[in-house]
Amino acid sequence: MAILKLSPSFKDYIWGGTRLRDEYSKKCDLDRVAESWELSCHKDGPSFVASGGDAGLTLAEYIEKHGRGVLGSDCESFEEFPILIKLIDAKDNLSVQVHPDNDYAMRVEGEYGKTEMWYIVDCDEGAQLLYGFKHEISKEEFASRIADNTLLEVTNSVKVKKGDVFFIRSGTLHAIGKGILIAEIQQNSNTTYRIYDYGRVGADGKPRQLHVEKAKDVTTLAPAQSYPETPVEQHDGYTSKLLSSCEYFTTYALDIEASAELEADEKSFVSLLILEGDVKLTNENETIEAKKGDSVFITAGSGKFTVCGGCKAVMTKV
Ligand code: ZN
Repeated sequence: MAILKLSPSFKDYIWGGTRLRDEYSKKCDLDRVAESWELSCHKDGPSFVASGGDAGLTLAEYIEKHGRGVLGSDCESFEEFPILIKLIDAKDNLSVQVHPDNDYAMRVEGEYGKTEMWYIVDCDEGAQLLYGFKHEISKEEFASRIADNTLLEVTNSVKVKKGDVFFIRSGTLHAIGKGILIAEIQQNSNTTYRIYDYGRVGADGKPRQLHVEKAKDVTTLAPAQSYPETPVEQHDGYTSKLLSSCEYFTTYALDIEASAELEADEKSFVSLLILEGDVKLTNENETIEAKKGDSVFITAGSGKFTVCGGCKAVMTKV
Protein backbone atom coordinates (compact mmCIF):
# COMPACT_ATOMS: atom_id res chain seq x y z
CA MET A 1 0.00 0.00 0.00
CA ALA A 2 1.41 3.29 -1.09
CA ILE A 3 2.13 6.90 -0.25
CA LEU A 4 2.55 8.79 -3.53
CA LYS A 5 3.66 12.28 -4.28
CA LEU A 6 1.67 13.79 -7.15
CA SER A 7 2.52 16.47 -9.68
CA PRO A 8 -0.22 18.62 -11.24
CA SER A 9 -1.42 19.87 -14.60
CA PHE A 10 -1.56 23.66 -14.92
CA LYS A 11 -3.99 26.22 -16.39
CA ASP A 12 -3.04 29.73 -17.58
CA TYR A 13 -6.49 31.37 -17.48
CA ILE A 14 -6.40 35.16 -17.99
CA TRP A 15 -7.01 36.04 -14.33
CA GLY A 16 -4.11 33.95 -12.94
CA GLY A 17 -0.94 35.15 -11.17
CA THR A 18 2.53 33.68 -10.57
CA ARG A 19 2.38 32.84 -6.86
CA LEU A 20 2.04 29.09 -7.43
CA ARG A 21 5.43 29.16 -9.15
CA ASP A 22 7.07 31.84 -6.97
CA GLU A 23 5.87 30.72 -3.54
CA TYR A 24 4.59 27.15 -3.92
CA SER A 25 7.53 25.72 -5.93
CA LYS A 26 5.42 24.75 -8.94
CA LYS A 27 7.56 23.88 -11.93
CA CYS A 28 5.65 25.48 -14.77
CA ASP A 29 6.74 27.58 -17.76
CA LEU A 30 3.39 29.25 -18.39
CA ASP A 31 3.36 33.06 -18.07
CA ARG A 32 0.40 32.82 -15.70
CA VAL A 33 -0.23 29.90 -13.38
CA ALA A 34 -3.92 30.33 -12.57
CA GLU A 35 -4.58 26.77 -11.37
CA SER A 36 -2.69 23.61 -10.50
CA TRP A 37 -4.84 20.47 -10.58
CA GLU A 38 -3.32 18.68 -7.62
CA LEU A 39 -5.50 15.59 -7.41
CA SER A 40 -7.15 14.92 -10.72
CA CYS A 41 -8.28 12.11 -12.97
CA HIS A 42 -10.08 14.58 -15.26
CA LYS A 43 -9.15 14.43 -18.94
CA ASP A 44 -8.79 18.23 -19.08
CA GLY A 45 -5.92 18.22 -16.57
CA PRO A 46 -4.64 14.96 -15.07
CA SER A 47 -2.28 14.79 -12.14
CA PHE A 48 0.74 12.50 -12.31
CA VAL A 49 2.49 10.13 -9.95
CA ALA A 50 5.81 11.77 -9.04
CA SER A 51 7.42 9.23 -6.69
CA GLY A 52 8.10 5.49 -6.49
CA GLY A 53 8.12 2.83 -9.19
CA ASP A 54 5.02 4.19 -10.95
CA ALA A 55 6.38 7.73 -11.38
CA GLY A 56 5.25 9.19 -14.69
CA LEU A 57 1.86 7.46 -14.81
CA THR A 58 -1.20 9.66 -14.61
CA LEU A 59 -3.16 9.12 -11.40
CA ALA A 60 -5.92 7.54 -13.54
CA GLU A 61 -3.39 5.10 -15.06
CA TYR A 62 -2.11 4.26 -11.59
CA ILE A 63 -5.65 3.43 -10.42
CA GLU A 64 -6.24 1.35 -13.54
CA LYS A 65 -2.99 -0.56 -12.94
CA HIS A 66 -3.54 -1.25 -9.23
CA GLY A 67 -7.32 -1.59 -9.25
CA ARG A 68 -10.09 0.55 -7.80
CA GLY A 69 -9.45 -0.99 -4.39
CA VAL A 70 -6.82 1.74 -3.88
CA LEU A 71 -9.70 4.25 -3.71
CA GLY A 72 -11.58 2.50 -0.90
CA SER A 73 -15.09 1.16 -0.38
CA ASP A 74 -16.73 4.63 -0.15
CA CYS A 75 -15.76 5.19 -3.79
CA GLU A 76 -17.58 2.11 -5.05
CA SER A 77 -20.81 4.07 -5.57
CA PHE A 78 -19.05 6.46 -7.98
CA GLU A 79 -18.57 5.34 -11.55
CA GLU A 80 -15.90 7.99 -12.14
CA PHE A 81 -13.16 9.21 -9.80
CA PRO A 82 -15.27 11.41 -7.51
CA ILE A 83 -13.24 14.52 -6.71
CA LEU A 84 -10.77 17.08 -8.03
CA ILE A 85 -8.48 19.24 -5.89
CA LYS A 86 -6.88 22.46 -7.13
CA LEU A 87 -4.80 25.36 -5.98
CA ILE A 88 -6.11 28.59 -7.50
CA ASP A 89 -4.20 31.90 -7.63
CA ALA A 90 -6.55 34.75 -8.56
CA LYS A 91 -4.51 37.83 -9.43
CA ASP A 92 -7.65 39.25 -11.01
CA ASN A 93 -11.39 38.59 -10.50
CA LEU A 94 -12.81 35.36 -11.86
CA SER A 95 -16.04 35.50 -13.83
CA VAL A 96 -19.36 35.35 -11.99
CA GLN A 97 -20.36 31.75 -12.50
CA VAL A 98 -22.42 28.77 -11.47
CA HIS A 99 -22.13 24.99 -11.79
CA PRO A 100 -24.96 22.53 -12.46
CA ASP A 101 -25.93 19.62 -10.21
CA ASN A 102 -25.34 15.98 -11.15
CA ASP A 103 -28.72 15.43 -12.85
CA TYR A 104 -28.42 18.46 -15.12
CA ALA A 105 -24.70 18.00 -15.84
CA MET A 106 -25.01 14.29 -16.66
CA ARG A 107 -27.92 15.03 -18.99
CA VAL A 108 -26.52 18.13 -20.72
CA GLU A 109 -22.73 17.86 -20.40
CA GLY A 110 -22.08 14.14 -19.93
CA GLU A 111 -20.11 14.54 -16.71
CA TYR A 112 -20.65 15.09 -12.99
CA GLY A 113 -22.05 18.35 -11.68
CA LYS A 114 -19.99 20.46 -9.35
CA THR A 115 -20.41 21.05 -5.67
CA GLU A 116 -17.22 22.62 -4.37
CA MET A 117 -15.52 23.99 -1.30
CA TRP A 118 -12.99 26.80 -0.93
CA TYR A 119 -10.38 27.10 1.78
CA ILE A 120 -8.74 30.54 1.79
CA VAL A 121 -5.02 29.73 1.91
CA ASP A 122 -3.92 33.37 1.65
CA CYS A 123 -5.35 36.71 0.58
CA ASP A 124 -4.61 40.41 0.24
CA GLU A 125 -5.93 42.79 2.87
CA GLY A 126 -9.54 43.64 1.97
CA ALA A 127 -9.91 40.90 -0.65
CA GLN A 128 -13.50 39.94 -1.43
CA LEU A 129 -15.40 37.23 -3.19
CA LEU A 130 -18.94 36.78 -4.38
CA TYR A 131 -21.11 34.15 -2.67
CA GLY A 132 -24.78 33.81 -3.58
CA PHE A 133 -27.40 36.57 -3.45
CA LYS A 134 -28.14 39.16 -0.76
CA HIS A 135 -31.78 38.06 -0.78
CA GLU A 136 -34.07 35.89 -2.83
CA ILE A 137 -34.89 37.20 -6.32
CA SER A 138 -37.32 36.07 -9.03
CA LYS A 139 -36.39 34.42 -12.32
CA GLU A 140 -37.62 37.57 -14.09
CA GLU A 141 -35.39 39.83 -12.02
CA PHE A 142 -32.40 37.53 -12.58
CA ALA A 143 -32.96 37.66 -16.35
CA SER A 144 -33.42 41.42 -16.50
CA ARG A 145 -30.39 42.13 -14.29
CA ILE A 146 -28.22 39.93 -16.52
CA ALA A 147 -29.57 41.78 -19.58
CA ASP A 148 -28.96 45.30 -18.21
CA ASN A 149 -25.69 44.47 -16.38
CA THR A 150 -26.95 45.20 -12.86
CA LEU A 151 -26.58 41.69 -11.43
CA LEU A 152 -23.83 42.75 -9.00
CA GLU A 153 -26.34 45.01 -7.19
CA VAL A 154 -28.07 41.93 -5.74
CA THR A 155 -25.13 39.56 -5.24
CA ASN A 156 -23.48 39.00 -1.88
CA SER A 157 -19.86 40.24 -1.54
CA VAL A 158 -17.88 38.82 1.38
CA LYS A 159 -14.56 40.09 2.76
CA VAL A 160 -12.25 37.15 3.38
CA LYS A 161 -9.33 36.24 5.60
CA LYS A 162 -6.90 33.35 5.74
CA GLY A 163 -8.55 30.14 6.92
CA ASP A 164 -12.10 31.07 5.87
CA VAL A 165 -14.19 28.30 4.31
CA PHE A 166 -16.94 28.55 1.70
CA PHE A 167 -19.16 25.61 0.84
CA ILE A 168 -20.59 26.08 -2.64
CA ARG A 169 -23.33 23.62 -3.43
CA SER A 170 -24.08 23.26 -7.15
CA GLY A 171 -26.43 26.05 -8.21
CA THR A 172 -24.79 28.66 -5.96
CA LEU A 173 -23.70 31.81 -7.79
CA HIS A 174 -20.04 32.60 -7.01
CA ALA A 175 -16.83 34.33 -8.05
CA ILE A 176 -13.35 34.29 -6.56
CA GLY A 177 -12.09 37.87 -6.19
CA LYS A 178 -8.64 39.21 -6.97
CA GLY A 179 -5.83 38.75 -4.46
CA ILE A 180 -7.06 35.40 -3.13
CA LEU A 181 -5.24 32.06 -3.14
CA ILE A 182 -7.57 29.13 -2.64
CA ALA A 183 -7.48 25.38 -2.16
CA GLU A 184 -10.57 24.09 -3.95
CA ILE A 185 -12.05 20.66 -3.29
CA GLN A 186 -14.74 19.84 -5.80
CA GLN A 187 -16.51 17.10 -7.67
CA ASN A 188 -14.66 15.73 -10.67
CA SER A 189 -16.13 18.12 -13.25
CA ASN A 190 -15.01 20.93 -15.53
CA THR A 191 -18.44 22.38 -16.29
CA THR A 192 -18.79 26.11 -15.57
CA TYR A 193 -21.52 28.48 -16.74
CA ARG A 194 -20.29 32.09 -16.91
CA ILE A 195 -22.87 34.80 -16.38
CA TYR A 196 -20.79 37.96 -16.17
CA ASP A 197 -17.12 38.46 -17.09
CA TYR A 198 -16.47 42.18 -16.49
CA GLY A 199 -16.41 42.68 -20.28
CA ARG A 200 -13.03 40.98 -20.57
CA VAL A 201 -11.54 39.42 -23.69
CA GLY A 202 -9.75 36.06 -23.91
CA ALA A 203 -6.37 35.24 -25.47
CA ASP A 204 -7.96 35.53 -28.93
CA GLY A 205 -9.05 39.14 -28.29
CA LYS A 206 -12.76 38.24 -28.22
CA PRO A 207 -15.07 38.40 -25.19
CA ARG A 208 -15.01 35.10 -23.33
CA GLN A 209 -18.11 33.01 -23.94
CA LEU A 210 -21.04 33.40 -21.55
CA HIS A 211 -23.57 30.65 -20.85
CA VAL A 212 -26.54 32.69 -19.71
CA GLU A 213 -29.36 30.33 -20.71
CA LYS A 214 -27.84 27.32 -18.96
CA ALA A 215 -27.04 29.50 -15.94
CA LYS A 216 -30.73 30.51 -15.75
CA ASP A 217 -31.63 26.80 -15.70
CA VAL A 218 -29.41 25.91 -12.76
CA THR A 219 -28.88 28.97 -10.51
CA THR A 220 -30.41 28.99 -7.03
CA LEU A 221 -31.82 32.54 -6.73
CA ALA A 222 -31.29 32.91 -2.98
CA PRO A 223 -28.59 33.45 -0.36
CA ALA A 224 -25.90 30.73 -0.28
CA GLN A 225 -26.17 27.98 2.32
CA SER A 226 -22.88 27.94 4.19
CA TYR A 227 -21.55 24.93 6.11
CA PRO A 228 -22.02 25.22 9.88
CA GLU A 229 -18.99 26.34 11.91
CA THR A 230 -17.17 23.38 13.50
CA PRO A 231 -14.86 23.18 16.53
CA VAL A 232 -11.09 22.65 16.43
CA GLU A 233 -10.33 19.16 17.76
CA GLN A 234 -7.17 18.39 19.71
CA HIS A 235 -5.33 15.12 18.99
CA ASP A 236 -1.93 13.76 19.96
CA GLY A 237 0.49 16.21 18.31
CA TYR A 238 -1.97 17.97 16.05
CA THR A 239 -5.31 19.69 15.71
CA SER A 240 -7.98 19.10 13.08
CA LYS A 241 -10.96 21.15 12.02
CA LEU A 242 -13.71 19.80 9.80
CA LEU A 243 -14.09 22.29 6.93
CA SER A 244 -17.04 20.63 5.28
CA SER A 245 -18.51 17.25 4.60
CA CYS A 246 -20.97 16.29 1.89
CA GLU A 247 -21.90 13.25 -0.18
CA TYR A 248 -18.77 13.75 -2.34
CA PHE A 249 -15.93 14.71 0.02
CA THR A 250 -14.98 15.33 3.63
CA THR A 251 -12.21 17.85 4.21
CA TYR A 252 -10.24 18.85 7.30
CA ALA A 253 -7.62 21.50 8.03
CA LEU A 254 -4.73 19.92 9.94
CA ASP A 255 -2.17 21.79 12.03
CA ILE A 256 0.68 19.45 12.98
CA GLU A 257 3.09 20.69 15.61
CA ALA A 258 6.05 18.33 15.10
CA SER A 259 4.70 14.92 14.18
CA ALA A 260 1.38 13.12 13.88
CA GLU A 261 0.09 9.64 13.22
CA LEU A 262 -2.72 9.54 10.65
CA GLU A 263 -4.53 6.67 8.98
CA ALA A 264 -5.85 5.66 5.58
CA ASP A 265 -8.56 3.11 6.36
CA GLU A 266 -10.40 0.72 4.00
CA LYS A 267 -13.15 3.25 3.28
CA SER A 268 -11.20 5.95 1.44
CA PHE A 269 -7.89 7.08 0.10
CA VAL A 270 -6.43 10.16 1.78
CA SER A 271 -5.34 13.31 -0.04
CA LEU A 272 -2.98 15.65 1.78
CA LEU A 273 -2.23 19.08 0.36
CA ILE A 274 0.66 20.66 2.26
CA LEU A 275 0.16 24.42 2.69
CA GLU A 276 3.02 25.27 5.07
CA GLY A 277 6.10 23.42 6.25
CA ASP A 278 8.45 20.60 5.22
CA VAL A 279 7.54 17.05 6.15
CA LYS A 280 8.44 13.42 5.75
CA LEU A 281 5.60 10.92 5.37
CA THR A 282 6.39 7.37 6.40
CA ASN A 283 4.61 4.05 6.53
CA GLU A 284 6.18 0.64 7.04
CA ASN A 285 7.27 0.42 3.39
CA GLU A 286 8.36 3.85 2.32
CA THR A 287 9.16 7.46 3.08
CA ILE A 288 8.51 10.49 0.91
CA GLU A 289 9.32 14.16 1.45
CA ALA A 290 6.77 16.89 0.85
CA LYS A 291 6.82 20.66 1.22
CA LYS A 292 4.54 23.68 0.88
CA GLY A 293 2.45 23.26 -2.26
CA ASP A 294 2.94 19.50 -2.60
CA SER A 295 0.10 17.04 -2.92
CA VAL A 296 0.22 13.50 -1.55
CA PHE A 297 -2.08 10.54 -2.25
CA ILE A 298 -2.28 7.66 0.23
CA THR A 299 -4.07 4.54 -0.99
CA ALA A 300 -7.07 3.22 0.94
CA GLY A 301 -6.26 0.50 3.45
CA SER A 302 -2.65 1.64 3.84
CA GLY A 303 -3.20 1.86 7.56
CA LYS A 304 -1.28 4.15 9.83
CA PHE A 305 1.33 6.58 8.53
CA THR A 306 3.41 9.24 10.22
CA VAL A 307 3.82 12.85 9.21
CA CYS A 308 7.15 14.10 10.60
CA GLY A 309 7.69 17.86 10.69
CA GLY A 310 5.51 20.82 11.55
CA CYS A 311 3.01 21.67 8.84
CA LYS A 312 -0.40 22.97 7.90
CA ALA A 313 -2.30 20.82 5.45
CA VAL A 314 -5.71 20.16 4.00
CA MET A 315 -6.78 16.52 4.26
CA THR A 316 -9.58 15.15 2.09
CA LYS A 317 -11.33 11.77 2.02
CA VAL A 318 -14.35 10.60 0.07
ZN1 ZN B 1 -16.69 27.29 -9.16
